[in-house]
Amino acid sequence: MAGLVPAIHVLPAKKDVDARDERGHDVERSARHRYSQNMSSKSALKTKPEPFEAVVSTRPTLLLAWYDRHRRRLPWRAAPGEASDPYRVWLSEIMLQQTTVKAVGPYFEKFVARWPDVTALGRASQDDVLRMWAGLGYYSRARNLHACAVAVTCEHGGVFPDTEDGLRALPGIGPYTAAAIAAIAFDRRTMPVDGNIERVVSRLFAVEEELPQAKPRIQQLAATLLADSRAGDERSRAGDSAQALMDLGASICTPKKPACSLCPLNQDCMARAQGTQETFPRKAPKKSGTLRRGAAFVVTRGDELLVRSRPEKGLLGGMTEVPGSDWLAGQDDGAAKLQAPDLKGLSRWQRKLGVVTHVFTHFPLELVVYTAKVEARARAPEGMRWVPIATLAGEALPNVMRKVIAHGLGL
Ligand code: SF4
Repeated sequence: MAGLVPAIHVLPAKKDVDARDERGHDVERSARHRYSQNMSSKSALKTKPEPFEAVVSTRPTLLLAWYDRHRRRLPWRAAPGEASDPYRVWLSEIMLQQTTVKAVGPYFEKFVARWPDVTALGRASQDDVLRMWAGLGYYSRARNLHACAVAVTCEHGGVFPDTEDGLRALPGIGPYTAAAIAAIAFDRRTMPVDGNIERVVSRLFAVEEELPQAKPRIQQLAATLLADSRAGDERSRAGDSAQALMDLGASICTPKKPACSLCPLNQDCMARAQGTQETFPRKAPKKSGTLRRGAAFVVTRGDELLVRSRPEKGLLGGMTEVPGSDWLAGQDDGAAKLQAPDLKGLSRWQRKLGVVTHVFTHFPLELVVYTAKVEARARAPEGMRWVPIATLAGEALPNVMRKVIAHGLGL
């Protein structure tokens, strides 16, 4: 689904160095032009401008010095001086797509406690992985996570490839994730650009172009913030440079009210010089998607609930749900109710007051909820099953279904 996975661009591999140099000159020319504009405004304030080269070469150093003092402590991050564990880096990067650090923390701990390495995860069943993932959203990621663990276990002897190309060949690993793992786990000299880095860089260089068109340019500019490795060693502190920018974006260069006075790069930040920090990154107006509507049917048999599994492919693929109608734009309640399951001995359908709302990436959803009871020996219709309400926590229920069930059962 477009928009779910950050469309991030990867630095060229070593073989593409010539092309990168050529593009890099464009970046530098543009940055130099902006630098002179910035410095003219600073000159007006009677501050002494530093030479452009000095500023450009000191940014990575300033950034790393700041990171060494202020880095965040995260469950998947290696302690200073320790080598990163590629399994933990990969797992956290997959979990963090479209989700916050706060939401991911408990899931990460659960996963590594149960599956301490990629081989253990590769031997788990997909159902178990989906169950553990339930509540984290975007379930295709959980299926890809499992497929990737299987591929690393079976095709790579339980060892992650250490290059971007090798990583990108694995299921569920796109350009951004490959660059993040290559940089953080293997110190490959590449810069993954997530939302935090996008914000910092677009402000630092006052990138006027709107997202998403600005992504390639932001990628090039972000690469200028990598620690230097001119000694011919491709491995550098690239992972720390990337994590420093991520941390800076998360803690200092925040979307609202950035704490510029604490920022290690504030001396040559163009947005700060203009006083326009919060207007970056420039974004094209959002399209919110058309509202879809439908019905969900919460049927109980004593202390059991009627559920089914969604088709493997598509939205919420393979997840558990209560039976329901299609989700369609402009659908009325009467039409949706016609898709209620057919059960023997069913009491009358009761419509619960209110609606359950949920927002997916591409569309908002409104569901009306009907409830009914059936007698003790009623059979589940084909493709459905009864599960004890007490064990629902172990089912792979997406958030929208948790809301529906809570509403239907009055929990
Ligand atoms: S000076 Fe302010 S706007 Fe510029 S990068 Fe630092 S925190 Fe962000």
